[in-house]
Amino acid sequence: MKRTNTCNELTSADAGKEVSLIGWVQSVRDHGGILFVDLRDRDGITQAVFHPESKAVYEKAQRLKDESVIQVFGKVVLREEGTNNSALKTGEIEVNCSDMTIHNICDVLPFPLEDERADKVNEDLRLQYRYLDLRRPRNINLLRTRHKAASSIREYLNSKEFIEVETPILFKSTPEGAREFLVPSRTNAGMFYALNQSPQQYKQMLMVSGIERYYQMAKCFRDEDLRADRQPEFTQIDIELSFIDREDMYALIENMLKKVWKDVLNVDISTPFLRMHYEEAMNRFGVDKPDMRFDMELVDLTDVFKNSQFKVFASIANGGGVIKAVNAKGLSDITQGELKALEDTAKTLGAKGLAFIKAENGAWKSPILKFLSEDEQKALREKLSIEDGDIVFFAATKWEQACAILGRVRLDCAKLLQARGKLDIPANLFKFLWVIEFPLMLFDEEQGRYVSAHHPFTAPVPEDAQYLDSEPLRVRGQHYDIVLNGTELGGGSIRIHQPELQEKVFKDVLKIPADVVQSRFGYMLRAFKYGAPPHGGIALGFDRLVTILTGRPSIRDIIAFPKTQKGQDLMAQSPSAVTEKQLKDLHIALDMPQE
Ligand code: ASP
Repeated sequence: MKRTNTCNELTSADAGKEVSLIGWVQSVRDHGGILFVDLRDRDGITQAVFHPESKAVYEKAQRLKDESVIQVFGKVVLREEGTNNSALKTGEIEVNCSDMTIHNICDVLPFPLEDERADKVNEDLRLQYRYLDLRRPRNINLLRTRHKAASSIREYLNSKEFIEVETPILFKSTPEGAREFLVPSRTNAGMFYALNQSPQQYKQMLMVSGIERYYQMAKCFRDEDLRADRQPEFTQIDIELSFIDREDMYALIENMLKKVWKDVLNVDISTPFLRMHYEEAMNRFGVDKPDMRFDMELVDLTDVFKNSQFKVFASIANGGGVIKAVNAKGLSDITQGELKALEDTAKTLGAKGLAFIKAENGAWKSPILKFLSEDEQKALREKLSIEDGDIVFFAATKWEQACAILGRVRLDCAKLLQARGKLDIPANLFKFLWVIEFPLMLFDEEQGRYVSAHHPFTAPVPEDAQYLDSEPLRVRGQHYDIVLNGTELGGGSIRIHQPELQEKVFKDVLKIPADVVQSRFGYMLRAFKYGAPPHGGIALGFDRLVTILTGRPSIRDIIAFPKTQKGQDLMAQSPSAVTEKQLKDLHIALDMPQE
């Protein structure tokens, strides 16, 4: 069945050759009794021609339907004067077919496969026929780009003497992180594995084993509610090294990303990346993963309102809270609907409302204007550079919450400004930065205890470790996040490798009961007593990285067989019911909710 060429190879230099091509029928056109078939494989398109004089093959060709699979045999000829197609690499020639094998006649397609029309087709239908949707050249190329990025990463890490090691997917349940997928063990009745959320503990054990430099394109699983950029299973570029500090890690990852951007996009990104402290990122952008492709920074106004007659703001400013604002420049033409949507989003983040001031035709309009003194108005005008055409939004509450609310308002306003053509974010602008100096612990109000900002294996900054007992919130972690265009590409940390310190973090700071520490992490604490090297690592979300590299709107576009937001594979129809016998073997009885 061998072909002589792909469908993207033949040029005028091949005229006269006898060739054979295999591919899919992209289209059949009848021009005055002659049939023209655009034959497509994953590389490109070649025009195959069937003349009525070659009767047998011509009659066969009349049966062809779009997307059928055929092999053609024939001679390469130059196209007639004036019929060259400069859009195709093979546009100067066509193959004059003398014979053809039909491998498969395609049924009526469930949707058209040309990009423009297919893109408008309901995504569920496309996911049900994912193999057809993937067959579109653009989508095959997305997988090709994904492959290129993975190859580039592997080349880089291999050149730096890393060893790729596979770690188990069947791990054990460690419920303090994200929700896990459980897998019942038939051979250990009543016991469960958990699919690994990340190879975190295994990769640390590999460091104790003396591997020194590990990486893995690791499949990870988290049973979380799915948002646009999440999948229940995803791929991480998982890395761990011994004998390094944070600076080594920054250089390693910067150079890796530099190579990937060069190899995949032929874009030179400049290094070193900007570094920003967590607190500064929150204060200026309202998030720990700032999108720095545009300004619109948050401004702190707490001092302005300390002595204000505006009691709501004054009491928050004096009661340990903050007053912050953001000026969405040029967005005073915001519609009622858009304003309402912004307010609704702010409310989901705990805001009671969303105070604003609009500057239009030389005057300010605002429900809170009557509460603001001349001096306060002046201070606002200066600090926020308010001009005609602007709209300013306020948040007055606890620091984290005020940051979160305005951080979100900032992003939503940027989208509104983009839609109006008032903010231009070029597609090839890549703003990388490291966010560093995170607190080691956060206080979880709901649970009434400290929780790890990253994970419990992160080492404290050495000079802060003394405050672990007295003031845990003052302790900074040796944790770093790599951020690109407002997306957290990845994160990691220098780890704790001293068993005493690790045990202290589990028991005294995180208040995990001793027996739970023992059953969950006992093996790790033991391992650290047998010559554990200092080590650290990072994991980068590979799917997210490829989504950004390809400029696609959804992570599903760059995954061969993605799941829907309900976690379903619509093509294979999973998850699915299982038989009584299977459940019985696993000692599982179903207790379904009443309809
Ligand atoms: N395992 C961590 C994660 O998945 C990353 C790391 O610390 O290496 O987020």
